[in-house]
Amino acid sequence: MIKTAFQTSVLLLTTLATTVFASESSVLTKAQRAELQQLTTTASTSDLSYQIVESLTTEVGARMIGTEGDKRAIKWAVDKMNALGFDKVWTEEVAHFQWIRGDVEAKITAPFPQPIKAIALGESVGTGEQGIEADVVHFATLADLEAADATRVDGKIVFVSYRMERLKTGRGYGKAVGARVRGASVAAEKGAVGFIMRSVGTANNRLAHTGITRYQNDERRIPAVALSNPDADLLINQLKRNKPVRFFLKVTAMRNEVVTVKGANVIGEITGSQWPEQIVALGAHLDSWDVGTGAIDDGLGVGMVMATAAHIGQLDKRPKRTIRVILFAGEEVGLLGAKQYLIDHQATLKDHVIAAEWDFGLGKIYSMQANVAEPAIPAIDELASYLAPLGVAYNTANQGRGQSDMGLITDQGVPAMNFTPDGLRYFDIHHTENDTLDKVVPEDLQQNTAVYTIFAYFAAQADVEFRKAN
Ligand code: ZN
Ligand code: ZN
Repeated sequence: MIKTAFQTSVLLLTTLATTVFASESSVLTKAQRAELQQLTTTASTSDLSYQIVESLTTEVGARMIGTEGDKRAIKWAVDKMNALGFDKVWTEEVAHFQWIRGDVEAKITAPFPQPIKAIALGESVGTGEQGIEADVVHFATLADLEAADATRVDGKIVFVSYRMERLKTGRGYGKAVGARVRGASVAAEKGAVGFIMRSVGTANNRLAHTGITRYQNDERRIPAVALSNPDADLLINQLKRNKPVRFFLKVTAMRNEVVTVKGANVIGEITGSQWPEQIVALGAHLDSWDVGTGAIDDGLGVGMVMATAAHIGQLDKRPKRTIRVILFAGEEVGLLGAKQYLIDHQATLKDHVIAAEWDFGLGKIYSMQANVAEPAIPAIDELASYLAPLGVAYNTANQGRGQSDMGLITDQGVPAMNFTPDGLRYFDIHHTENDTLDKVVPEDLQQNTAVYTIFAYFAAQADVEFRKAN
């Protein structure tokens, strides 16, 4: 195998780090540091995580909770964990109601008729067969809509045009996503008949981005769709002509709340040799939206955490603590798997010594931040020294939160580790038909997996109390 520049530099530097960090006070023993070095070499040269994403996207594809794809994904995950040599593999049921996407027909009907590319927001109601047609009322932001008088909105189709910022940290998403989650409810409260918004996404292609919307009020629910970025621009340009702009929307989505569908958290363990009840938890979500094949959201994470556990499982001896991989169900529709996990594992949450999830980013990890007890900080310093050769800087703020599902779990007092990747390109693809395997950069995924492998091994071997005293 020809080594990439990344692999060569990691191997050289890791050798240096594991040799240099040999002070008497180090957490890992000399033998463990040697084993970590071997493990780093394995993870930095293996394409296992990529092969797992390739398998998931090829053999399963889209997997929204409760769909046939999701059922196949659950079976796929159980089989894959068994094949990878996990010691225990099981599923825990998660229930939800049925939602069927259907189709969207969207067009400007006046003053200059043009078809518009749009997608239903997740769990939107439909319009009925006739569709709806109404004048558009435009707001630049959700806050502007919230502040608006109901008389401006009543009987109209509300359009929120806020454009998500492209940032390496991905923080533009947090500022933009409120309109998607709450916009339809706010518009409905003021009498709107439909809600359209610029996609929460950074691409300039004509694909719209889906994602969950939530109805606050069961009585007033209106159809909600996202427009592609160029179509949102087109609509704005027509509005600038200062003539009434009329919009037609037909959404055949069905929200069948009386129909229960089942998903499952899929859980697998490499069982600890000394403290098996103590858990290092690694998360990703197994479900995806029903468009694309769920490669970056969150096939990447699934590949990384499964490969991490598999690499550690290949060592001669199990580490002291258990490494538990949790592939959460129904993340996309409201962190359902994480909520169920908290219910199912309330009694043993105290035994979760530290947790990390991967549910963001396409690029290399460039920063890490922990959230641990003060006395554990020197241990995190040591972990940082093992990760520095991979290009991971150490943010010492000690306020890290688990991503996505693991955020809920770390909010319950489980110590967290957060790894931040380059997120510049992620929201070009996120929640679109373009979320496919070709977007995955194998070399970046290899670095990501090496980082998780080092972290998981360290946390599983370190005789350190990460948890803050209550
Ligand atoms: Zn996700
Ligand atoms: Zn998502």
